[in-house]
Amino acid sequence: MTTEEQKHAARMAKKKQVVDERIAKATEERGVLILLRGNGKGKSSSAFGTMARALGHGQRAGLIQFIKGRKETGEYLFFKDHPKIDFHVMGHGFTWETQDKTQDILAAQQAWEIAKKMLADPSYDILVFDEMSYMFRYKYLEVAPVVEAIQNRPKNQNVIITGRTMHTQLTEIADTISEVGDIKHAFRQGVKAQAGIEW
Ligand code: ATP
Ligand code: MG
Repeated sequence: MTTEEQKHAARMAKKKQVVDERIAKATEERGVLILLRGNGKGKSSSAFGTMARALGHGQRAGLIQFIKGRKETGEYLFFKDHPKIDFHVMGHGFTWETQDKTQDILAAQQAWEIAKKMLADPSYDILVFDEMSYMFRYKYLEVAPVVEAIQNRPKNQNVIITGRTMHTQLTEIADTISEVGDIKHAFRQGVKAQAGIEW
């Protein structure tokens, strides 16, 4: 080995030791609450990617999109018939264009009723509440009952919530929070939104 190679091997051995020590310390087995927030692109796609990972292990998933179905998204078309997923889109059939607040609140509450049942059902291994954060921002839903249901969920159930901004009460109870930063977005360079990338 050259001196450079020896140095590299020593650095790697040290790094391995640090990682092994951390792995040895992480012994608790339980589900986690993951928040994916920020202004950049990639929050919902990350949530769907993690759900696909869980499905690969034969786990059961519950998914609620807390946005109004404007068009059929690729994720909906791909996952909707999967036997291990219960896929719900809030107020499917309505659009933002209606601007009917009463109808919006009703749709949000109906979606929450489904979410609440999932949070009480241990047969779901992973739940994704896509864009749920807007429900609190627009005051369509109260945060307290959501926090309570998340805290009382089955021990091994994993939950992922996405949205640009997160309510502080959710931030407080989360285990993992990742922020997707907006460094560049093709839209600002005049690139049109496209199937397979945007929806
Ligand atoms: P994705 O679903 O692609 O993972 P996201 O969930 O992080 O995106 P949202 O805030 O839910 O982002 O917005 C969804 C849509 O808005 C996507 O079509 C995405 O490409 C677009 N978008 C996200 N961030 C930006 C941005 N900074 N500027 C313009 N468009 C954006
Ligand atoms: Mg999203």
